[in-house]
Amino acid sequence: MARAHNFYPGPAVLPVAALERAQRELLDWEGTGTSVMETSHRSKEYDAVHNETIAIIKEMLGLGERFHVLLLQGGASLQFAMVPMNLLSAGQTADYIHTGTWSKKAIAEAKLFGTVNVAFDGETVELKRVPRQDELKLTPGARYVHMTSNNTIKGTQFHAFPDTGGVPIVCDMSSDFLWRAFDPSPFGIIYAGAQKNIGPAGVTVVIIRDDILKQCKTEGVPTLLKYQTHADKNSLFNTPPSFNIYMVRNVLRTMMDAGGLAEIEARNRKKAGMVYDTIDANPDFFRAPVPKESRSLMNIVFRLPAEDLEARFVAEGKLGNLLGLKGHRSVGGIRISAYNSCPLESVEAIVEFMKAFAKANG
Ligand SMILES: *Cc1c(COP(=O)(O)O)cnc(C)c1O
Repeated sequence: MARAHNFYPGPAVLPVAALERAQRELLDWEGTGTSVMETSHRSKEYDAVHNETIAIIKEMLGLGERFHVLLLQGGASLQFAMVPMNLLSAGQTADYIHTGTWSKKAIAEAKLFGTVNVAFDGETVELKRVPRQDELKLTPGARYVHMTSNNTIKGTQFHAFPDTGGVPIVCDMSSDFLWRAFDPSPFGIIYAGAQKNIGPAGVTVVIIRDDILKQCKTEGVPTLLKYQTHADKNSLFNTPPSFNIYMVRNVLRTMMDAGGLAEIEARNRKKAGMVYDTIDANPDFFRAPVPKESRSLMNIVFRLPAEDLEARFVAEGKLGNLLGLKGHRSVGGIRISAYNSCPLESVEAIVEFMKAFAKANG
């Protein structure tokens, strides 16, 4: 049986080498005669996986000693609440850059805890692009500035991070985490659900800067929802999602073996470039709603001349082993998600299919 060309937006394709390793180790892992999911999270074998996962993330991003890497549950959606629960109190203001469905949800949670200033309201541009620096209405002395680096549904992405004048950035990187290297120093918190770019669903990576951790509330926050609880116990306060973390480790290992973030970035640029070039070369048939400077390299969104053609594109693609082409139910159209683990061959296949479909139906 052949592997499908998988363009699902999340959970998404994983590297074959990472899956095969899990398959090989499922009945007897590290000579224990058990799988990782049947083994104590206090064992030395699990500890090695846990710490390797954290160490690779630190190494890839050059995080050094200033940042803690936490492995939590509850998805990125829990972080929408945990961030303000830990950092924002009544009478304090946090700035939120609203660029899509996810930022809207983050804003709703923050309002439960303090004052939200919407520093850019993406609805004014129909969420079709991210803001320019000069469009941001930032609050001097804000607690933090929250942003979503990649908007999974509308297919927009920040290609440079905003200058917040020293106010720590809190960033939801769920759909473009570890797609390339970047300078972590302006960030107070980075969070990402694993299931888009680095593994299966069930684990959320949270990176928190030490000075921000020290500013977190010590009272009125339930134990499990305090960042400090997890930082103190190296994310082993309670049972972690050990199998999911093991899978993330396997994925990160394949990324390191492939040459690390520089190579991953080059591949991602090449893959997205191939799809956008195909769209732009056929302007009578394909239409990308996002202007070039805001286009996402992870989620490539476009329309065909009519909705019935879009439905046929998705259905015929599926027959041809090309999965997950349907745009988000809230926006329609086509979406091709080409995350880190999406192989070049899959992108070559979708580009061939796009060209043939346009020729047959144009
Ligand atoms: C998918 C996604 C989420 C939601 O993640 P869950 O793990 O389902 O909570 C949040 N933010 C972004 C940018 C996403 O792509």
